[in-house]
Amino acid sequence: MLPTARRTALFSESVIRDMSRVASEHGALNLAQGFPDFDPPEVVLDALRRAIGAGAHQYANTWGASGMRQALAAKIERFSGTVVDPDRELTITCGSTEAMAATLMAVLDPGDRFGLVSPFYENYAADGILADAQPVHLRLHGPEYRWDPAELRSLFASGIKAFVLCNPSNPCGRVFSREELLELAQLAIEFDVVVVTDEVYEHIVFEKPHVHLHALPGMADRTIVCSSLSKTYSITGWRLGYVHASPHWTSAVRKVHDFLTVGAAHPLQVAAETALALPASYYTALREEYLERRSILVQALEAAGFRPRPPEGAYFVLCDLTHMGVSDDRAFALWLAREIGVAAVPGSSFFKGEARPSVRFHFSRRLETLREAGQKLALVPGRI
Ligand code: GLN
Repeated sequence: MLPTARRTALFSESVIRDMSRVASEHGALNLAQGFPDFDPPEVVLDALRRAIGAGAHQYANTWGASGMRQALAAKIERFSGTVVDPDRELTITCGSTEAMAATLMAVLDPGDRFGLVSPFYENYAADGILADAQPVHLRLHGPEYRWDPAELRSLFASGIKAFVLCNPSNPCGRVFSREELLELAQLAIEFDVVVVTDEVYEHIVFEKPHVHLHALPGMADRTIVCSSLSKTYSITGWRLGYVHASPHWTSAVRKVHDFLTVGAAHPLQVAAETALALPASYYTALREEYLERRSILVQALEAAGFRPRPPEGAYFVLCDLTHMGVSDDRAFALWLAREIGVAAVPGSSFFKGEARPSVRFHFSRRLETLREAGQKLALVPGRI
């Protein structure tokens, strides 16, 4: 047989999605691939029912239905203070997965180097490889997952064209502070680097507010925001993402997006206008509900002998397993799904270089699902 393209050998299949398959094979509770097991708000579902009856069944405008882009521009302004031109600065994509892939293809040339932190969400390195570019990893240190400013500076000085940052972070739960982002911005300006952010968890923050990098001085033209409606409105299956960037970057991203997918599903874009217009109380409730879920999962993990650190944001708890005598986290995750009935993602898939054995649990589940997971996890100490 003819060989497949070399780039397909440079990255592996998603471990996150693989663990979803493992979960269903063993009938385990899926705390692996992060998506809600609850429905979006009823008003959003009503809007979808109306949209389906209202005839939006052909392609939307390739850049995104204009109503959704306008609603999105208004929502971004409401939360970040940035005035956004929906006609020149927004592109609606099939999830932030396409947003990130299209962005890296629009930014990076073959052979370009781009930075990303480790631990990282597994798509980024694969997306860069699809653009024939080379990922360079910056290690976050200690249980708090902080970068070393000197290491950050030398990465920027090493000739990267782009830097990818997930904030709030999947998988480690960091919410990067204003000071850290100012430091990053200063380096991006000094070394002429474009920063691509993944901000899909911007509304799931617990201890401190989310800071928008694009709104910091000098960053509007050198930040490309990739985000989505998936996590904020509990609609991961709708596959609605977007890229927010200055016209220079947007026009390149739009070309890639157009030839990759043409566009996201039209009726869903129409219904999204209602989600984007939800009042402030929706976001407060979202945060409070996730706080409660976080506390149930963290307590259950503590009771089961893990040493969880409550995340500052996003909905993942990354647990080090060293003290439990585990050396192979992939084997541990398979055992956990099969024998305990709880699926999680082996942490090694998020690290480059010296990964300590760890597993990532998510808490985007109903309270009863999390309580049931807690009962199952309580069996770990007696069985491990
Ligand atoms: N972001 C979620 C996670 O890390 C799921 C993403 C996905 O599988 N598309 O689990």
